[in-house]
Amino acid sequence: NAAPLGQYVIPIANKLQDIFAQLGSQSTIELPQVAVVGSQSSGKSSVLESLVGRDFLPRGSDICTRRPLVLQLLQTKRKDDGSEEEYGEFLHFPGKRFHDFSEIRKEIQAETEREAGGNKGVSDKQIRLKIFSPNVLDITLVDLPGITKVPVGDQPSDIEARIRTMIMSYIKLPSCLILAVTPANADLANSDALQIAGNADPDGYRTIGVITKLDIMDRGTDARNFLLGKVIPLRLGYVGIVNRSQEDIMLNRSIKDALVAEEKFFRSRPVYSDLADRCGIPQLAKKLNQLLVQHIRTILPGLKSRISTALVSVAKEHASYGEITESKTGQGALLLNILSKYSEAFSSMIEGKNEEMSTC
Ligand code: GDP
Ligand code: MG
Repeated sequence: NAAPLGQYVIPIANKLQDIFAQLGSQSTIELPQVAVVGSQSSGKSSVLESLVGRDFLPRGSDICTRRPLVLQLLQTKRKDDGSEEEYGEFLHFPGKRFHDFSEIRKEIQAETEREAGGNKGVSDKQIRLKIFSPNVLDITLVDLPGITKVPVGDQPSDIEARIRTMIMSYIKLPSCLILAVTPANADLANSDALQIAGNADPDGYRTIGVITKLDIMDRGTDARNFLLGKVIPLRLGYVGIVNRSQEDIMLNRSIKDALVAEEKFFRSRPVYSDLADRCGIPQLAKKLNQLLVQHIRTILPGLKSRISTALVSVAKEHASYGEITESKTGQGALLLNILSKYSEAFSSMIEGKNEEMSTC
């Protein structure tokens, strides 16, 4: 079963990849990178984990993410017997395959300490981790340290400025999608996440607002107005999330159970009942996927022309052998045809006419 992130994009990306493979072309579709920003303990790592569908990131009430973690998801082929192999590999630990995801978490912690020390220090030196799995799409996610104001432990006095600079170096890239994470139990109008995302992406074309901790808001309050964009408007809108609590983490509650609990939470709260499209991890994944599909759509014309060029040179090569080129060009025409069909399917998908792509 595909992880929430990618359930719509994987089939499309795979089809296009197949088309390239048939043409003997190396080109792959480069998807934009996705980064999480927000204040410390707002739930950034928790959100990323849920999107990937595996438990492997250090999370907790203290500062856990102390170095940028660049997480490359790489899709592998399912084995012939249908079984699947999922593993992680670190750049700093070449050749070692981590099949046990709790070992991955331990290694992230150990490697964090090697560089940033054991006493809350923060470093801008990346940890690079690849996750190989048949259930992911090829995308890069970046988990970043949270914005913090008061230096603790080994942190220098200018810790806030340093972390802000580090975050900006990732999210200022025009190709980076930003998940701006704000906890619902803090003052929403003062969100560090929305503030820094607004600096990097003033028009809001690549920022999704994520409101976590809806389950622990003050009694009698809710996040309705915020989710509706009435407090701080955001072009791409907001999604409300309920991640696992610290207690859930200590009790080793699984992601799957957490997703069920989240769904139950929203179902049992009448204030959110008419906002179903703005509530829950699956909705966040859907929103992200739509952005990715939109991205593929904007790069399609370029892909098309590359395929045409490749076809012309194949046809020429065949002609130079003095053979009949008809079948090869016929194939090419077919491929172009398929691609055009996809183009149309993308349009209707983005306009929300059909959610699933039919396989043609
Ligand atoms: P990060 O510092 O932004 O990466 O935040 P983490 O993902 O490490 O989470 C910080 C703490 O908040 C952990 O103890 C989580 O269990 C808790 N937490 C995160 N999201 C939620 C949520 O939606 N509800 C509750 N109750 N706790 C959450
Ligand atoms: Mg974190």
